[in-house]
Amino acid sequence: MIPDDVIEQVRDAADLVGIVSETVELKRSGSDYRGRCPFHGGTHRNFAVIPKKGMFYCFVCHEAGDVFTYFMKRLGMDYPTAVREVARRVGITIPERPGPTGPDPREPLFTAVATAADWFARQLRESPEGEVARKYLESRHVTMEQAQVQGLGFGPRGSGFLDAMKGLGLRDEVLLEAGLVVKRDDGTKVPRFRGRLLFPIHDLRSRVVAFSGRILGEGEPKYLNSPETPIFRKGQLLYNLHLAKHGMRKAERAILVEGQFDVLRLTLAGLEEVVAPLGTGLTDEQAALLQRHAPQVILLYDSDDAGLRATFRAGDVLLRHKLRVSVATLPEGEDPDTLVQNKGAAALEQALKDSVDILERKIQIASRKGFLGSLSGRRRALDRILPTLRATADRTTRGLYISRTAEALGLRSDAVESEIGTTPEPSEKAAWFRAAASAAAANEIPPSGAERDLLLLMLESPAWKDRVLKEVDMPEIENDGYRQVFEAIADNVPEQLNEMTARVYEYLQQRGLEGRNPDEVFAGAMERIEVRSIERQLDEVNRKLPFATDDEKATLAHEKVRLAAERNAKRPTYGIIQSARRKGAPGS
Ligand SMILES: [Zn+2]
Repeated sequence: MIPDDVIEQVRDAADLVGIVSETVELKRSGSDYRGRCPFHGGTHRNFAVIPKKGMFYCFVCHEAGDVFTYFMKRLGMDYPTAVREVARRVGITIPERPGPTGPDPREPLFTAVATAADWFARQLRESPEGEVARKYLESRHVTMEQAQVQGLGFGPRGSGFLDAMKGLGLRDEVLLEAGLVVKRDDGTKVPRFRGRLLFPIHDLRSRVVAFSGRILGEGEPKYLNSPETPIFRKGQLLYNLHLAKHGMRKAERAILVEGQFDVLRLTLAGLEEVVAPLGTGLTDEQAALLQRHAPQVILLYDSDDAGLRATFRAGDVLLRHKLRVSVATLPEGEDPDTLVQNKGAAALEQALKDSVDILERKIQIASRKGFLGSLSGRRRALDRILPTLRATADRTTRGLYISRTAEALGLRSDAVESEIGTTPEPSEKAAWFRAAASAAAANEIPPSGAERDLLLLMLESPAWKDRVLKEVDMPEIENDGYRQVFEAIADNVPEQLNEMTARVYEYLQQRGLEGRNPDEVFAGAMERIEVRSIERQLDEVNRKLPFATDDEKATLAHEKVRLAAERNAKRPTYGIIQSARRKGAPGS
């Protein structure tokens, strides 16, 4: 096996235009080169070489690929031979590895997925059933030519796919292992992607390894990805990274967007350094991948609340990997796709130019919410900023962030620093997950009854979900695992939960309210959370006292008396609920 970074080095060094020119007469056409296709031997200049992407594409016979694929398809070489041939031409020595060098056992899977990709692309171009996909692309202002260069495809309903793959000699077991086919309970096999527009997902060697399929018309889920397979580990890849990595090195930044359509639109608008996670929250491995190619990431997510939450979640992961992180803010109601369509590439450029550092963005939001004007607001703002400070692994950045936070909130730096220290240890979090998982397994109750009850209500019905979302602020869910589940339910993305939290989610779904009256459950949970919140506020008053001026001290003392009275007024009923729970009355 040739190491990935050597392969990348060879690809970067290769002169695709020069290599193709040896046998095809190419003429410059804008930033691309055009010539007669060497594969189908046409007479018109339908064959494009796109040096910026290191790709070739024929608009007639649809042969496509990079410099390695070019040698494989032209001269019938296998992949390692093609890499060695190109390496020889650019003068890079490939280290000979001792040990077994047999063929990659995963080769049949790569072949199956590549064959499927070609077939899906053909369905999109010409099958009558593909009309729904062509219409859809048209409605989103993507031309067929653009769709073809991006390798988009269409997975029809019915058995056409299975018949075609069988005709091409692909065995069922391979199709199953490649995630292209699903086995139903009754043993019958059906194509995984039915009635979906398909985006191919490439690995860093530009081989198709999986698909992401968008439903056309009614159906769930909206996006369906290939499952994990021996050639597809979704946490370890980013959508479009195989092309974006070149642009990332040049621009010294990556632009992270939420979905495939955003990538497509931004690519068409001329940006090369655009990538997206694959239907999950950003993983540590993905952040590490980004870090290898660029020092800075601009987050360009939707501007709604869910988008903002996803932005800060991704930001924390990136900061842990010492990346510089900025946030680009889109005008109200726009996502990257609609922005480019409605207002053009210039509006996008402006949004990127106006992007601000992620910490600055948090301070901006706190300021717009009026948090900075009051003592309790500043406390709240600090609580929201703390995760960012804790995530920041780069020491210099962290130091700057601490002074900036102290300045914005009118605190002393050492006070901010000591707050960072009060973070729960990661091992504590892990302990909770273990506890929750084993509790779920033993059919017992994970900790934090009130928080759990609120989640159960959110799962009870859309109406209850809305009510909980309206009355409960996310930071009020203090248990880290439950908060992740809360966010996932709020944003309608349970599929983005990690393995542990997904188990908790499933456990809650199965458990349900068990016949309890939802109104009572809600009242009980809210009361417990309110009491806890008052106690928390009392703690905060105590924590604020050292920072306060004499004037503020008087106000705080007042506040303390008021909170204590409020808590005492709640406590009697709280106590009744507690004793009722102990007796096993309804509500337990
Ligand atoms: Zn051709």
